[in-house]
Amino acid sequence: MSTPRRGRWASRDSLRRSDLVRIILRGAFGDRILTDEPLAPYTSFRIGGPAQWFLKAESVEELREAVRVAQRAHIPYLVLGRGSNVLVSDDGVDGLVILNRTRRFTVRPASAGLLLVADSGVSLPKLAGKLAQGGVSGLEWAIGIPGSVGGAVVQNAGAWGHEIKDRLVSVEWLTPDGQIEEVPAQRLELDYRRSALLDVPPGKRPIILRAKFQVDRGKPTEVQRRLRCYIMRRTTSQPRAPSGGSVFRNPPGDYAGRLIEAVGLKGHRIGNAQFSPKHANFIINLGGATAEDVRALIDLARRRVRDAFGITLELEIELVGRWEEEDESQAQDHTPPAQGQEGEDGP
Ligand SMILES: Cc1cc2nc3c(=O)[nH]c(=O)nc-3n(C[C@H](O)[C@H](O)[C@H](O)COP(=O)(O)OP(=O)(O)OC[C@H]3O[C@@H](n4cnc5c(N)ncnc54)[C@H](O)[C@@H]3O)c2cc1C
Repeated sequence: MSTPRRGRWASRDSLRRSDLVRIILRGAFGDRILTDEPLAPYTSFRIGGPAQWFLKAESVEELREAVRVAQRAHIPYLVLGRGSNVLVSDDGVDGLVILNRTRRFTVRPASAGLLLVADSGVSLPKLAGKLAQGGVSGLEWAIGIPGSVGGAVVQNAGAWGHEIKDRLVSVEWLTPDGQIEEVPAQRLELDYRRSALLDVPPGKRPIILRAKFQVDRGKPTEVQRRLRCYIMRRTTSQPRAPSGGSVFRNPPGDYAGRLIEAVGLKGHRIGNAQFSPKHANFIINLGGATAEDVRALIDLARRRVRDAFGITLELEIELVGRWEEEDESQAQDHTPPAQGQEGEDGP
């Protein structure tokens, strides 16, 4: 039997890899690094297993540092905004989940109207609400989209005939090799619920740190009236139960909800997940649904719609975490805008 080596190198050799990862992560963020943190509370579905490692990033600097530290530890990382467009697997997510809670935004005069610069973690509904209070117009339609600015850019979120693409000027992103770049909106190739970022696996995507939007001065009462209209329209058309919003993209010239209804699945339930009786393209969590329940509904709808119409429904939500192979083919400061508006969206 060989004599164990002593001293610094001996102890380093004997460290397990997970201990090394813990030392690197805790060395950077201390007790704020959580282990086996359940992700369900951070998603709009209220579904999902634990994150192996978890950190809430409260500033853009922390967001950057978290990515850098994950890279140094050689572990995968996933940035989660408001978790409103993901289905997290029951088995959870390997590596570091970075919950993006960056929250600053500013509005300042620009050559055309006003320029809004928002951290990627800012909540869209809070942003839309606060802009409206300050008489800034352009994002009212986003009031009912429960995502973050970063998630909305990745997905080119939209509603009621408007989309992020209409207003986005540029983003500041962090490349996988640690560079910060300002990228004009055109480079993101934004299209219906798509961006070029979605062609890259989540762990290899650039991370959006901030986004710039062209917005306009408006009359506060008018902007707020529009906001109320959008809220009303949503309340009447969408279910209130936890969900991930629209599950499938609408195929060209049709509606995923219509197709799901046509194959008899509106209201259909597996486990505690159900195609909403109010809006068939929403899967709702009736309470205690698992990711597998949702996945089974997804697979069933795809199969039935393909068999009946020859159309393959494409997912709008993203499956994240550990999954088996698919079974189917698959502001608080409201100074007048002209002098600048600045604030935070709150926790
Ligand atoms: C009730 C309900 C209604 C909805 N209505 C609409 C609607 O009308 N229109 C619409 O378009 N969508 C809608 N959605 C879907 C969803 O809210 C949007 O897609 C939203 O923009 C997602 O943002 P998020 O922060 O929640 O993203 P997340 O779900 O947190 O993340 C989605 C993906 O984006 C990545 N990502 C997140 N932040 C960043 C970042 N900063 N940099 C790089 N990648 C990032 C994540 O890693 C993940 O891959 C709805 C959802 C719900 C639950």
